[in-house]
Amino acid sequence: MIHKDLQMKHYLALILTLAMISIIIILLYRSLQKVRTTFIGAFTNGNVVVIDAGHGGMDGGATGISGLLEKDCTLTISKKLDLFMSFLGVPTVMTRTEDLSLDHQGGATIRKNKVSDLKARLRLAEETENAVFVSIHLNKFPQSQYRGAQVFYGPNNQNSELLAKSLQKCLITAIADGNTSIHKKATDDVYLMKKATCPAVTVECGFVSNPEEEVLLKDDGYQKKMVLAIAGGYLEYVNEST
Ligand SMILES: [Zn+2]
Repeated sequence: MIHKDLQMKHYLALILTLAMISIIIILLYRSLQKVRTTFIGAFTNGNVVVIDAGHGGMDGGATGISGLLEKDCTLTISKKLDLFMSFLGVPTVMTRTEDLSLDHQGGATIRKNKVSDLKARLRLAEETENAVFVSIHLNKFPQSQYRGAQVFYGPNNQNSELLAKSLQKCLITAIADGNTSIHKKATDDVYLMKKATCPAVTVECGFVSNPEEEVLLKDDGYQKKMVLAIAGGYLEYVNEST
C-alpha cells in the first residue's frame, strides 16, 4: 500500500512537471512570436522584394573570360539573396528559380522570346503589391581592367535612387575592394528600369571581363558577402524611406 502511494505521488509529480514545462513552452513561444512579429514589421515596411535573376534559358547574358555564364551566376546569387531575406522575415518573390526564360514560346524568334521574357518580369513587378524590384546582373566591358559592383536605378519612382544609393554604399563597404563606383540612373535601353513604376534597381555584381573578379563571382563566400551587402543596403533603405 505504501509502495502504491509512493508510485501515485511519483506519477502526480511527473504529470505536474510535464504540465509546468508545457505552460513554460507555450508562454515562451507566444513571447517569441511577439518579438518575431515586431522584428519583421521593422524590416519589411510592407514591401515585397521582387528578386530578378537576370537572363536565363536561351538568354545566357554575358560570358566571362573563363566561361562563367551570367545567367547561372545571377540565379545562384538571387537564390542566396532570397534565402537570406526570408531569414530576416522580408517577403520576397523571385522572377525565376530555374534556368529558363519566362513566357517562352517554342518556334518564336530569339528576339520575340527575349521581349516576352522581359514583359513577364515587368508584369510580376507591377502585379506585386508594394514591390521593390531588385534585378541581379553581371557586367562586361571590352577592357579587362574594369571591376567592382555598381547599382543603377530606374527613373520612374523617387525611391529608386535612394535604394540604389544605400545598396552602392553597402556593396562598397562590405566587399571592401577599393571600388569607387557611384550609383547611376539606368540608361533608356534598359527595358525593366525604364518601365518599372515601383522602386527599381539593377545590381551589376561585378565584371566577368575582369579575370580576378570572374573567379570571385563564382566563389560561394564572395557571393554570400554580396548578398549580405544587398540585404544590408535594402534594410538601410527601408529605414530611411519611412
Ligand atoms: Zn545582364
